Amino acid sequence: MTNKRKVAILGATGAVGQRYIQLLQEHPWFEISVLAASERSAGKKFKDATTWLMDTEMPKEISEMPVANIDVKSAEQTGDFDLVFTSLPSDLAGPVETEFGAHYPVFSKASAHRMDKDVPLIIPEINPDHIELVKVQQKNRNWKGFITTDPNCSTIGMVITLKPLMQFGIQQVMVTTMQALSGAGYPGVPSLDIIDNVIPYISGEEEKMETEALKILGNFNGTTIDYANFQLSASCNRVNVSDGHLESIFVKLAKEPTLEEIQTAFTTFRGEPQTLKLPSAPTQPIIIRHEKNRPQPRYDRDTQQGQSVVIGRLRKDPIMTLKYMCLSHNTVRGAAGGGILSAELYVSKGLA
Ligand code: NAP
Repeated sequence: MTNKRKVAILGATGAVGQRYIQLLQEHPWFEISVLAASERSAGKKFKDATTWLMDTEMPKEISEMPVANIDVKSAEQTGDFDLVFTSLPSDLAGPVETEFGAHYPVFSKASAHRMDKDVPLIIPEINPDHIELVKVQQKNRNWKGFITTDPNCSTIGMVITLKPLMQFGIQQVMVTTMQALSGAGYPGVPSLDIIDNVIPYISGEEEKMETEALKILGNFNGTTIDYANFQLSASCNRVNVSDGHLESIFVKLAKEPTLEEIQTAFTTFRGEPQTLKLPSAPTQPIIIRHEKNRPQPRYDRDTQQGQSVVIGRLRKDPIMTLKYMCLSHNTVRGAAGGGILSAELYVSKGLA
């Protein structure tokens, strides 16, 4: 790629926005040209508008950049850009993404448009063909740009592991999550609520997991998505972990594959990002750990730069067919890393 594409980040000061900034440093295809956030931050230099949460230094050139308001006019006045990453609260993301989507490709981490009929919900390894839905959207809405979305952070890890199991006929899935604090953004959950504690409720999370998975694993019929046809039940919990969502997954299959066949299905699974060698693609999307006490968030979340899903404790289940633990980094694979990989897919296919 000769010319790097310029990107705007809306919600740049938040937990996900900062992860975008970190992961886009030295990116071969993209460079950051606009940062935008709320009126509280707009008009300030980035370094004065946020508490930096990443474990690498705030990049110097970013620290001096001005923060724009999250409207097209303010963003365009701050700098040129070719595409937009958004990581905004969902209620706000709805109208803002519509405003930007009319003119620019918008890669969204919010839930506002995920289930819209003409909006793709993408995990690049799982449903890369669904990106063609943006052509339907552009025609429907008479837009130059488009909106494409990434799933909820807890949906992504689970769905990546379900895809290789589809060949055995998935009938039912039950999942219990143990979700990290950074999933609630910054400052997130009050410390006195979570120290020495687990909170057995995350607003809207179970519904998202139960519906998004069926759209992603469905088929694009040329005009819309036919949803996958299996039952899914989710139970979501917030735990005292900084990054990394751990999930306990039970799957009932139509066939009775051996554990070796299931292991092979997981470890040999590859998608288009691997074939196309996209810059942010992990070489192996699913890694299996064989120790009896792994995966663990602290040790395994950064596997393959946080872009791989780590499975462990794979075993047969006496009620369902099999069960396993699954870990994915919620602000990398579950957010900014997934968003960047999506954008790479669209660019490689000439759609952005
Ligand atoms: P966050 O840390 O709370 O950041 C929110 C961002 O939105 C900040 O940049 C904030 O700017 C901006 N914002 C808030 N209110 C605004 C307003 N009224 N007008 C304009 N900008 C406003 O949240 P986050 O964790 O990054 O999450 C962002 C989105 O990504 C959410 O939709 C979330 O559900 C989704 N998501 C999060 C994760 C995760 O692991 N955290 C994973 C997947 C998806 P100021 O700093 O100026 O207030």
